Amino acid sequence: MAGKAPPVIAVDLGGSKILSAVVDHRGKILASDLHRTHAEKGADFVIGNILKSVRAVADKSTIPEQNIAAIGLGAPGISNPQTGIVYSSPNLPDWQNVPLKDAIENGSGKKVFLINDANAAALGEMRYGAARGCRNFIYITLSTGIGGGIIIDGQLYTGSAGMAGEIGHIVVEPDGPKCNCGGAGCWELYASGTAMARRAREEIRKGKISALLDMAGKDVDNIDALLIQRAAEHGDPLAKRVIAETARYIGIGLGGLINIFNPELIVIGGGLANMGSMLLAPAYKEAARRSYREAYRATRFAVAELGAHSGVLGAAVYAIEQLRKKRS
Ligand SMILES: [Zn+2]
Repeated sequence: MAGKAPPVIAVDLGGSKILSAVVDHRGKILASDLHRTHAEKGADFVIGNILKSVRAVADKSTIPEQNIAAIGLGAPGISNPQTGIVYSSPNLPDWQNVPLKDAIENGSGKKVFLINDANAAALGEMRYGAARGCRNFIYITLSTGIGGGIIIDGQLYTGSAGMAGEIGHIVVEPDGPKCNCGGAGCWELYASGTAMARRAREEIRKGKISALLDMAGKDVDNIDALLIQRAAEHGDPLAKRVIAETARYIGIGLGGLINIFNPELIVIGGGLANMGSMLLAPAYKEAARRSYREAYRATRFAVAELGAHSGVLGAAVYAIEQLRKKRS
């Protein structure tokens, strides 16, 4: 049938899990497979696991192998989609200049399209999620770190070397702590789930009283964003303060993005998005203070809709788009 793209295999490579799926041109997941990443065993081992997962999902699917057109591969960290090299990745500690695309192409015999995981999620949300019908929007994942995807005029903006969208590394405090990107005081050090947990731990270590300590079994290292949310729901003042401070920094970053891009929509994904209005309402208020009123008023906010599938669906959208471009 004219215009109907064949199915692809999409892979979402994460620091702990590899999710692979056979996805058709309508975004339907026909088969899926979950493998452990074992990032601690190094790049070659992880590449082997990706290939195992790709093989497993192809075997599970009823689609004949020769009808699967390509592999869309979403990977965390800094990579170049053209060369297919992953330069470095916070979730894959030993990765330096890994030729991931070539390795998977050689191992699978299929064409591979590599994309940053947050960029993939942006494409997934545009096609099937909260940004359906949007032409100009920004996807933000508030998670362990902060990732992003910028969509301009319906196209993913990848920059001159494929690295655009690293919005977690906008500097918000020039004298702030060192960041693993090589800089200091980056947005993700103040506005991510990790940042929120660190803030609470520091306060409690300084002797501040909070229900969080009991909730964490008296071990401050057990404090995470979910626990802080629960404590705040029970009215714990420290938890509420930590959320307010994190929201303030989220809003500072959002305000900057609104001024630069004047987007019609900002989609918030990642674990912190699940906190809902407790965190996001004050963040949006702060963004209003930090951006041009007209640009702020033109911006809608939404929470991501695809959850754990945003990465694979986005990687599938990317692969199908790239195949189409190559054919036309
Ligand atoms: Zn940074």
